[in-house]
Amino acid sequence: MSRAARKPKSKSLKWYRDKAWELTSKYVRLREADEDGYNRCVTCGITKPWKELQAGHFIPQARGNAIRWDLRGIWPQCLRCNCHLGGNGAEYTCYMLDRFSRATVDDLRRVATTTRIMRRADYEEIIDDMAARLARIALNPGEREPTETQEWQRNHVS
Ligand SMILES: [Zn+2]
Repeated sequence: MSRAARKPKSKSLKWYRDKAWELTSKYVRLREADEDGYNRCVTCGITKPWKELQAGHFIPQARGNAIRWDLRGIWPQCLRCNCHLGGNGAEYTCYMLDRFSRATVDDLRRVATTTRIMRRADYEEIIDDMAARLARIALNPGEREPTETQEWQRNHVS
């Protein structure tokens, strides 16, 4: 059998999930980084190279897929805040309310109560979306991407 005729081995759902998260995490840490690639932890304010930061959830991702993949609630955090302080939720709430509207925070809490079944196509959509966003950032380092909240508000608030 020729090489071209061999069917590619299909990848597991976990492979797609891991890839989607890898790109989402990278995007979260880069979307507001400066042109040298430095960004701030949203809960303690420490500035670090984006690779030393983590993508931290406002509402714990253990609450499920709907909130896990909602970019409005995923921002850069340092290891200390995200892991050692368990997400530093009190400071995270202050950050969200300072920066976004109460309606956005309430909507994220509502989303966290919903369930979302993730299929391969859902992960593929995220992978394509994140790859496109990362390509834009690579072309314009240091230029701020519109936040999900701005996009969401344009769509939902008149
Ligand atoms: Zn921190």
